[in-house]
Amino acid sequence: MKGTFRGGVHPSHKSKDPTKGVKTREYVSDTVKIIMNMNIGAPAKPCVKKGDQVRVGQVIGEAQGFMSVPVHASVSGTVLAVEPIPYLAEAPSMAVTIQNDFKDEWVELHPLGDVEHVDPSLVIPAIQNAGICGMGGACFPTHVKLSLKPDQKCDTIIVNGAECETHLTADHRLMLENSRRIVDGLRAVMRALDVKNGVIAIEDNKADAIAAMKEASFGRQGVTVKTLRTKYPQGGEKQLIEAITGRQVPSGGLPIQVNVVVLNVGTCAAIADAIIDGKPLISRITTITGCVRKPSNLRLRIGTLVEDLIGECGGFSEDAGKIVFGGAMTGMPIPNTSVPIAKATNGVVVYNKHDGASVEEGPCIRCGKCVSVCPIGLNPFQIKAAADADDLEKCKALHVMDCILCGSCSFDCPSRRWLTASFKNAKQKITLQAKKAAAAQQGGTAK
Ligand code: SF4
Ligand code: SF4
Repeated sequence: MKGTFRGGVHPSHKSKDPTKGVKTREYVSDTVKIIMNMNIGAPAKPCVKKGDQVRVGQVIGEAQGFMSVPVHASVSGTVLAVEPIPYLAEAPSMAVTIQNDFKDEWVELHPLGDVEHVDPSLVIPAIQNAGICGMGGACFPTHVKLSLKPDQKCDTIIVNGAECETHLTADHRLMLENSRRIVDGLRAVMRALDVKNGVIAIEDNKADAIAAMKEASFGRQGVTVKTLRTKYPQGGEKQLIEAITGRQVPSGGLPIQVNVVVLNVGTCAAIADAIIDGKPLISRITTITGCVRKPSNLRLRIGTLVEDLIGECGGFSEDAGKIVFGGAMTGMPIPNTSVPIAKATNGVVVYNKHDGASVEEGPCIRCGKCVSVCPIGLNPFQIKAAADADDLEKCKALHVMDCILCGSCSFDCPSRRWLTASFKNAKQKITLQAKKAAAAQQGGTAK
């Protein structure tokens, strides 16, 4: 039986057609700008200065504590600048700009060898040193996710190959082109956590990826491939867990509370690279699509500028309106094309002026569609009314903090209400309020 979850929507997946059958090619640019806050948690601190010569894989940003990961040079060459740059909607981010010398000179690597024979106690430190964080979009430090507390137990690791977002095919291509590395990464983590059950979960619109992953998993201890019904947001952690195990992560809880860890396919491949080759995370596959002449999946060095990768894809095919990182449901608009890709940038989608224009929201007609599609079981129209009234206490009472910002309610709303944007705003305000309260208790100031 195919796994699924309650609620959800069915956006057209035609947007994946231009790239899903196109083999990944490598593109390396003249210059990279590598930001220091690619992960959830503390940003790395630059440890190089203008004029320094660096090699590929060299640490250029040091992790700041446990909830942080190091950042590595993705090309060899000369450091041109260490300075803050505008990045997405957040405050400027510190970045290291490197002029590529195209010598591709690496630091000395320290491979640990075959994942089936590596000392399991070395796996999580290797993941931490390689700067790996969730590559499906969340960018949560992977070593933190895998460092279980004494009272926590994991019995299942789910590898997320759903790629349910529109437009994106980077994970699909990775499963076709590097399937063994994904299984290797999963096996390394299974051995590190002493978990017997590893499930690679893929939607049924990727039959070729399911076949490739089944072949790669053959004979690998405890590894199975499970087919999921194609439905958005199947790739959400809670939805995947429900579909695979039937377990429900409690409100405000984490997957480990139901004994599960979820990793993205790209994260697993990066883990295998770190163990087998000793390589840190310096590149990833990103889907570049929409209004570009040559929609592609590119293996890009971290820090490649959007303007460069759009040039590699033949330039804009129409007047560009909005450009987002990610797909149509959860993508983040970028401020300009001088922004670099980061470890979690799975897609760059270019919209034309018409599709990229914002729409007016209409009045709520109480049709209840948003309620029926919410995979978390929330009441979006009520939360929206509370958010519009800036009633944060009511938003909290209606469990806005459980909203995963999947966009399903906005997608299905006939009045095109700005539901998800309102919930994001309310969540940010509540988080800031909590930080301020905590800072006031400690006599400091929340930022
Ligand atoms: S954005 Fe939030 S409220 Fe809307 S469907 Fe997704 S989880 Fe539910
Ligand atoms: S789907 Fe839109 S119009 Fe219908 S109840 Fe929800 S918010 Fe109101």
